[in-house]
Amino acid sequence: MTFRDFNLDPQLVEGLDAMGFEKPTPIQEKAIPLILDKKNLIACAQTGTGKTAAFILPVLHNLLVNGSKGINTLVLAPTRELAMQIDQQIEGFSYFTNATSIAVYGGGDGQTWVQQKRALAQGADIIIATPGRLISFLGSDKVDFSSLKHLILDEADRMLDMGFFDDLMKIIKQLPEKRQNLLFSATMPPNIKKLASKIMPHYEEVAISISKPAEGINQQAYMTHDSQKEPLLLGILRDKTYKSVIVFASTKEKVKNLTRSLKKQGEEVRQFHSDLEQIEREKLMQQFKGKNVRILVGTDILSRGIDVEGIDLIVNYDVPPDPEDYVHRIGRTARAESTGTAITFINDKDIKRFMGIEKLIEKAVPKLDLPKELGRGPDYKDRPRSSHRGGRSKGGGGKSKSRNFRKGRR
Ligand code: ADP
Ligand code: MG
Repeated sequence: MTFRDFNLDPQLVEGLDAMGFEKPTPIQEKAIPLILDKKNLIACAQTGTGKTAAFILPVLHNLLVNGSKGINTLVLAPTRELAMQIDQQIEGFSYFTNATSIAVYGGGDGQTWVQQKRALAQGADIIIATPGRLISFLGSDKVDFSSLKHLILDEADRMLDMGFFDDLMKIIKQLPEKRQNLLFSATMPPNIKKLASKIMPHYEEVAISISKPAEGINQQAYMTHDSQKEPLLLGILRDKTYKSVIVFASTKEKVKNLTRSLKKQGEEVRQFHSDLEQIEREKLMQQFKGKNVRILVGTDILSRGIDVEGIDLIVNYDVPPDPEDYVHRIGRTARAESTGTAITFINDKDIKRFMGIEKLIEKAVPKLDLPKELGRGPDYKDRPRSSHRGGRSKGGGGKSKSRNFRKGRR
């Protein structure tokens, strides 16, 4: 199957060619015909599988065929970064068309506020907004949604996780009742269906292999005591074949401490978390995308939806609290069929959690031996047993191997 089989408007096909898209991904193959057919939809597929294009292409096609007046499509997304990224993709696809889009998100300065406000008042074909920011505009201004045809909730699961349910309902109340609703999500928790039943009477569902990391990701883990984590990380970062790296830690405080500590060891790292000003976050993201920053240390705010090409290493400095987050985090690498490495540090408190992850992904992640100079880590087993030394390189066919580490530079 190729994109030509959808009979999309030739201007869009030109855009696709320019972006180097040849074959639709599985979710695109399933979702695009249904969306063109005006169906309501819940579409569920793992991160990095091309969900953005799955909703943008049919919406743009519709715009080209039916012409546009006023706001045609509202896309709601959980974070600023994601909203900007969707906006950029829309610009890419619609390069050969007249379609207009704007992203409306928080942060920024007074000037941004004025720009967004004006853009909303004038209307654009497609508005991409974070719920909170859009609501703050709806309060004071009249936004004319009367010609709206499509409502899209991207990363719907994440928006619910972030407590946006009420905000979403508040926004949706202001939209015309007759509209097409599309929910895109990486996972399908029960509250997604609850939300769906509240906003649309009938809907189709397409789901593609939920919660499986992309095949191209080389997953590894180390059993480590907390004291071993930093020297282990330093050793890994010294491998310069990793040109673009994200290190995830579970809290802002951990991110800050780890960044400080890595800097002291001479690593050039930058931190990414919600305490940064919007403008800093954008600048940093640009630098990281442009490969001017090699290592980002961040919280899970980085883990969803951000699409940066060519990240070749993800390190989970600790095991993410939720198994789904593991899939999201490591989904930052190996996007759209490239390859990447994901390494997780597991301390003895996190073993149970990691077992939950292995259950979810239906795969045992190979446990590598720590470099000799770091000594032994905890064993990988659920509860204390007296039998043989626990599960190093347990199952999964991963033979344990050791990396070559040089002694840490002080
Ligand atoms: P998701 O929203 O499912 O996490 P994205 O829509 O962000 O995934 O897509 C991930 C990456 O794959 C993007 O860089 C996108 O440009 C690319 N991509 C999407 N669909 C295709 C395709 N059919 N062919 C080639 N690359 C694609
Ligand atoms: Mg997405």
